[in-house]
Amino acid sequence: MVNFCDELIKVSTKPNNINFLFQTLAVSIIRKNSLWEVKTNDQRLLKSKNVILSSSLIAHPRCIDIMKINSIPLYDAFKNVKDDIVDSILRKTIKQEYLKRKNYIFHVSNLKIVNNFDQKYLHIQFSECLHDDFSFERIIFQMQRDGSMIIILHCSYISTFVDIQLEQIFQILRRIFFKEKKYLNLFDHAILLDTMDWRASQPINNLLSKELQWSSISNIGCSGDWFDFGDFSRVESAMNSSIRLAKILI
Ligand SMILES: Cc1cc2nc3c(=O)[nH]c(=O)nc-3n(C[C@H](O)[C@H](O)[C@H](O)COP(=O)(O)OP(=O)(O)OC[C@H]3O[C@@H](n4cnc5c(N)ncnc54)[C@H](O)[C@@H]3O)c2cc1C
Repeated sequence: MVNFCDELIKVSTKPNNINFLFQTLAVSIIRKNSLWEVKTNDQRLLKSKNVILSSSLIAHPRCIDIMKINSIPLYDAFKNVKDDIVDSILRKTIKQEYLKRKNYIFHVSNLKIVNNFDQKYLHIQFSECLHDDFSFERIIFQMQRDGSMIIILHCSYISTFVDIQLEQIFQILRRIFFKEKKYLNLFDHAILLDTMDWRASQPINNLLSKELQWSSISNIGCSGDWFDFGDFSRVESAMNSSIRLAKILI
C-alpha cells in the first residue's frame, strides 16, 4: 500500500503540498466561520476549506466503542446545521452492518519444508460450505525474502467473532488438505505469529448512493467502500468513489 500511495502521489499535480499524519486519528470535526476544524487524538487542530471522509468511521456508531467517545463526531458536527445530504449520509450509515474478519498469521521457518512447497505465492479461496461450517474464507501462502513462509488464514463473520482454538484450526486444515503432503508438512511446522481482528472489514448492506458523495452546502465529501458502485468489488468501489469525488472537485 505504501508503494501504491507513493506512486499515486508522484503523479499528483502538487506532490509537495501533500502532508501525512501517520498514526493520527481524527476524533472530532466542527465547522467554524466556513472552515472545517479537525481535532486529532494528539490534540492537533487542522483547518481546511474542504473535508473528505475516506472511511465511514466517524459517521458510524462503531466509532463510539473504537474511539471511546460518547457520540458520533459527524452527527455532533451537524447538530445545528441543516444539510440534507449529510442528514441522508448519517441516516443510512448508522444502519450499515459490516463483515468482520479475523486473520491468523503463521510462520514456517523450516526452509527445507518451504522449498518443497514449490510455490512462492498461493491464494486459495475456500468453498461456501467450508465457510459456513468453520468461517474459513481463504488462505494465503507467501514465501518471504529469507526463504521462510507466512501463511495467513482469513476467517469472516457476519455477527460476532467466533474464537477458534489453535488446535482446532490445524485439525480442520489437516482435514481439508488431507491428500496433500506438502500442505500438511507446512502446517506441522507453522507457529502462530499473531492474530488480527478487523471489526468492520467490509460493509454488507445499506450502501450509500453516490449522489451523497459531496455536499456543496458544507464542503464535505465522502469516499470509500461504503458507497454503492454496482457490481464492483469493495476495493474497486472504494477506488471508483475516490475517482468520482476527485472529478467533482476539479
Ligand atoms: C482481511 C481483509 C480482506 C479483504 N479482502 C477483500 C477482497 O478480496 N476484495 C475486496 O474487494 N475487498 C476486500 N476487503 C475489503 C477492502 O479492504 C475494503 O473494502 C477497502 O480497503 C476499503 O477501502 P476504503 O478506502 O474505503 O477504506 P480503508 O481502506 O479502510 O481506508 C480508510 C482510511 O481512512 C482512515 N481513517 C478512517 N477513520 C479515520 C479517522 N478517524 N482518522 C484518521 N484516519 C481515518 C483509515 O486509517 C484508512 O487509511 C478486505 C478487507 C480485509 C480487512
